[in-house]
Amino acid sequence: MKRFLFFLYIVLLAVDPVTAQQVEGAAAPTREFLLGKTHFEKDTNFVEIAPAYTVLRRPNNFIQKRTLEAFLKMREAALQDGVKLTATSASRNFWVQRYIWEQKWQKSSVAKGVDRARSILRYNSMCGTSRHHWGTDLDFNSPKLEYWNSEEGRRTYEWLCGNAHKFGFYQPYTEKGEPGSGKRTTGYNEEKWHWSYYPLANIYMKYYRELITEKDLGGFLGQEFVPGLEVIDNYVFGVATPPSI
Ligand SMILES: [Zn+2]
Repeated sequence: MKRFLFFLYIVLLAVDPVTAQQVEGAAAPTREFLLGKTHFEKDTNFVEIAPAYTVLRRPNNFIQKRTLEAFLKMREAALQDGVKLTATSASRNFWVQRYIWEQKWQKSSVAKGVDRARSILRYNSMCGTSRHHWGTDLDFNSPKLEYWNSEEGRRTYEWLCGNAHKFGFYQPYTEKGEPGSGKRTTGYNEEKWHWSYYPLANIYMKYYRELITEKDLGGFLGQEFVPGLEVIDNYVFGVATPPSI
C-alpha cells in the first residue's frame, strides 16, 4: 500500500504542476511574501531573466522560475508567428513599489489626498498590493497606449489573447465597463501589456484573501487612504476572472 501511495505521489508530481509547486513549499506563501517584502535575489524560487529576453537588468529582472519557463515557451511560439515578446517589467518588491508610489505622490498636482491616491491608482499599485510582488506577472513590450494602438502592438495583443492561455498566462487588467456590462468595474485601467502566470498567481490570490487585511497595508505616504479606497477589494481583486487551473 505504502509503495502504491508513493507511486501515486510521483505520478501526481509528474502530471500536476500545481501539486509539484505545493510540494516545493512555494504555494504556502507567508504574509510577508504576499506583501512583496521579499529579497528576490535571496529567494531560491526566483531567477534572473537573461538579457536576450528583457530590457531589465539586475536587480529588476527577477521572476519565479516557473513563470520564466512558461514565458520562454510562449516567447518561442510567438516568434514562430512573427510576434516578439520582451519583458519590460518583472518583479518589484515592496520597497521598489514604495519608491515609485512616493515619487508619484510627491509629484502629483492633485490636492486632496484620497483623489491623489485614486489618480495614481489608475495604473500604479499601492505598495503591498501589486501582483508584480509575486514573481508571477510580466509586462511585455511597452506600457504606452500608442504602442498597443500601433499595427505591431495590435498584432501582439491579438496573438496574446489567442495564445497566452496555452502557456498559463492571462490578462488580469482587461477593459473596464459599467456594472452589468460583464466587464471589470473596479481596479486599474486596462493594461494590454500586463500578463499573469495564473497557475501560481491564483494560489497567491487565494492566500491573499485569507491572510491579508487593510491593517497589513502601510509604511508609505498616503497610507491613511487605504480604508476609504477599499484597496484590497477594488484593486487586488479588481481583476478579470482568471482561467481555472
Ligand atoms: Zn504590470
